[in-house]
Amino acid sequence: MFRRVLILAPHTDDGEFGCGGSISKWVDEGREVYYVAFSSAERSVPEGMPKDILKKEVQEATKVLGIPPNNLILFEYPVREFPSYRQQILEDMIRLGNEIKPELVLLPSIADTHQDHQTISQEGFRAFKKTSIIGYEMPYNNLSFTTNLFVILEEKHVARKIEACKCYKSQFGRIYATESFIRSLARVRGTQIGVEYAEAFEVIRWVIR
Ligand SMILES: [Zn+2]
Repeated sequence: MFRRVLILAPHTDDGEFGCGGSISKWVDEGREVYYVAFSSAERSVPEGMPKDILKKEVQEATKVLGIPPNNLILFEYPVREFPSYRQQILEDMIRLGNEIKPELVLLPSIADTHQDHQTISQEGFRAFKKTSIIGYEMPYNNLSFTTNLFVILEEKHVARKIEACKCYKSQFGRIYATESFIRSLARVRGTQIGVEYAEAFEVIRWVIR
């Protein structure tokens, strides 16, 4: 039903947390997955670590998920200031859309409260007018989350998601970045549809051709 999938991540680790299991599954199924991060969040790097560490970490993490290196695209928008760059971000998205021609776009939930995440969801909604769009879950940021689409995961997909998230050593200490959190959330979402593991998404726009 869809072959080319585009993941829009405000910051380098958002795609892995939001939909790493589904990415891993889709790569296994032979779909083309592209990962775009709009900031490598240099300002969030702890003292004493190289400023470009998140760039290396996203390269490792996306490799664990099976995304080819050429399908990883990084922009350098300043973290927490995305709302000031809305138009530029929109134009980058439109250009990417013309190049990649995705059939499915993933972005943060419309109910995400982080200003950078909001910018990516809102501009993504505008940029990919003719495309199916689903929102991924970031429980730490979401005011609410509508679970009306599920992707069933196998143990290996959850394991790769955990491994990918572990690549972000510079972000160690985030409560949602632990193995038990990731596994528990996958179990909760799986339980909603009577399977062991799943990731849940909200359907923002579904286009049937
Ligand atoms: Zn983020």
